[in-house]
Amino acid sequence: MNRMKKIVFTYFQPVLLALIMLFWANAPASLVDKTWLVTAVSIGTMVIVQLLEFVNERHAGWRLDLREFLTDCFYVALFFVVIAKVEDALVETPLAAFKHSLGFTTDWAMHMPFVLQVAFGFFLIEFGQYWMHRLMHNSFLWWTHAPHHHITQLNAAKGLVGNPIELFLVSLSVIAFFDLPLNAVFCAFNIDGAVAVFAHANVRFISPRWYAFVFTTIEHHSLHHSVGFLETRCNYANAMILIDRMFGTFRAGESAVVGQDERKRLSIAQQLAFPFRPLVAMFRPPAPQSPSASG
Ligand SMILES: [Zn+2]
Ligand SMILES: [Zn+2]
Repeated sequence: MNRMKKIVFTYFQPVLLALIMLFWANAPASLVDKTWLVTAVSIGTMVIVQLLEFVNERHAGWRLDLREFLTDCFYVALFFVVIAKVEDALVETPLAAFKHSLGFTTDWAMHMPFVLQVAFGFFLIEFGQYWMHRLMHNSFLWWTHAPHHHITQLNAAKGLVGNPIELFLVSLSVIAFFDLPLNAVFCAFNIDGAVAVFAHANVRFISPRWYAFVFTTIEHHSLHHSVGFLETRCNYANAMILIDRMFGTFRAGESAVVGQDERKRLSIAQQLAFPFRPLVAMFRPPAPQSPSASG
């Protein structure tokens, strides 16, 4: 790798996070309450990072093809058009109203410097996601999360590929309980999303040591996508790997081979139906015994 390329792929991740921070710190007030702007920054990040795959890919086996591209597009649309809206209507808005009715305020959070407000918001989102994700790997909720682990390659938008029940559960957060300026909340969401995009992308980033200490990288997250159910029980943090370091679930290393069971790729229909497999199995008549099995 030439010197220039090495510099770009070493600093791309932290520089993009800093740019997102600068963008929201200086966004004009007339734009700050527009949720489409959060969506535009999220999708813009995904497109740029996906394009980097064609400049400096990580594994040829993960290269984006048309079928993967179309599947990823389906899930990006599903997330921003349906799941984010449902989550807002069913959880965020009622939670904010409930907090308001209690007369509970966190004025101190409104007076912190912008960088700290974003860091606090980022931590709140990640702390909730960490425990929800860990619970999914250690309970019946695995049935909702397993489709995300059946993906057989990683690409920029793969963080959004999974069963809708899982996508809904994992996006739950208590951030609405805190008074924070809207631009800090949106910035925290965009930073969280950007790190998750880097951590799923088929791009040979060279993460600086300090960056990989705090933020989840593709090395950490590819290890989380290792083949075998028990192998996946590490590096749960979507974007803040520091939380895994705090709770003893961090593992160093990386994996080039990802998937579950026989590493059979699931179709969108199979991903949608996956959580109902135990239910279907209950009502299915038992398979006739083969002579060799009874012997
Ligand atoms: Zn997982
Ligand atoms: Zn993942």
